[in-house]
Amino acid sequence: MKYIYYGAGTYARAHFEELRKQHEPLCFCDRAARPGQTLFGLPVLPPSALTSTNADASILITRNPYFKDETQKYLIEEVGVSKERIADYEEFELVRTCYSIENELYFDMNSGWLCCFLGQRVKPPMVTFTEKDSPRDKVEALLELRRRIKTALTQGSPNECDGCISLGMHRISTTPKPLTKVIFSFNCSCNLRCSYCSQWHRKNELIDVWAYRTMINEMKKAGIIDQNTYMCWGYGEIAIHPQRAEILSVMSEYNLHIISNCTIYDEYVVKHLALGKAILNCSLDSGTRETYAKVKGADLFEQVCYNLKRYSEIAALELKYLFVPGVNDNEADVDGFISLIDDILHSGNHITVVLSRDCADKSPLSDQTLAMMALTTVAVETRCIPLAFFAPDTTFSATEREIYLRKVEELKTVDGFKIGEKK
Ligand code: SF4
Repeated sequence: MKYIYYGAGTYARAHFEELRKQHEPLCFCDRAARPGQTLFGLPVLPPSALTSTNADASILITRNPYFKDETQKYLIEEVGVSKERIADYEEFELVRTCYSIENELYFDMNSGWLCCFLGQRVKPPMVTFTEKDSPRDKVEALLELRRRIKTALTQGSPNECDGCISLGMHRISTTPKPLTKVIFSFNCSCNLRCSYCSQWHRKNELIDVWAYRTMINEMKKAGIIDQNTYMCWGYGEIAIHPQRAEILSVMSEYNLHIISNCTIYDEYVVKHLALGKAILNCSLDSGTRETYAKVKGADLFEQVCYNLKRYSEIAALELKYLFVPGVNDNEADVDGFISLIDDILHSGNHITVVLSRDCADKSPLSDQTLAMMALTTVAVETRCIPLAFFAPDTTFSATEREIYLRKVEELKTVDGFKIGEKK
């Protein structure tokens, strides 16, 4: 039996080789399909094909499992396919939780926590390990923390998440799932000085690679990670850490989410990207040399753009734009950012754009910043590129979201809007 793969984005690309071993593909289908588009030699069709030319074929959802519920609902309620056609159809329930609790785990060898330290949040639920704790004890302590918080949220009893703006009612699969991402918080230095970042002053710490490997193995034994889980090296610049080769080897049994400022085209990063199970994330936060230097603290815009193009030849890219009010929220920078994306797209590579606010800055987003976020959104959507938000539940307040969405709609109605398009 052949399957239609629904979803032709980052997840499908990263997992194609594994997926095809279990479910032979017939074609891809995606809401953002472009006429004549192909992926891995297969056509990428619009959703209408699910009920016209391919009305009997089974459908495999190849989007991030976090979106499985909304994708199932979309396919059934809007496209009109029956649930019997969806492979591995799942039931979901409404619970009070957040994205991080359900999908992520952060740790170093001294402590573990359930979400990242974003300025918009309360102090995250965390557990401190003792010297006597074995890797297994540490994993158990983290699982217990997760269980305790989930139970407290279900029962409405007081807990560390109280007051967090990320909490909400979410539809969660009734079948427990392995984590989407595990973030390693190494003490790692950085060669840039981003204006919004407080990590760069850290010094590179010597990492006990054996301890991390054992901890990962324990997580696997406990069933909280599997081969689909992403391993992410959080904080600092990976390309300047002396143990990056060993650590990347430990992580690369899984999918890799490599975060780099791309000032260096690093042979070890290249090696692991070339394995085909990695995504490279880079915060460019600008589209001009001058602004890059202001935001990132070094005059390296051209070098980074060059490295990004080279990296994009071997792996999927996530290109991030963190808006710093009054510095990079202007048309010249958005235009330059989109021009770089066009260059990368012309060589046929996959790219996702991630928009972010400075999470540590609690002041409301200005009209100008929201206008530039909207401008970037429309430019990205016009090119049928996947768009995501960093920490989506904390990006906008209700009022900011309303203004942002209104600006997006206004821009969409501007006839012939094609920002950054090459002449
Ligand atoms: S609800 Fe907030 S504090 Fe609690 S885990 Fe989620 S993001 Fe962190």
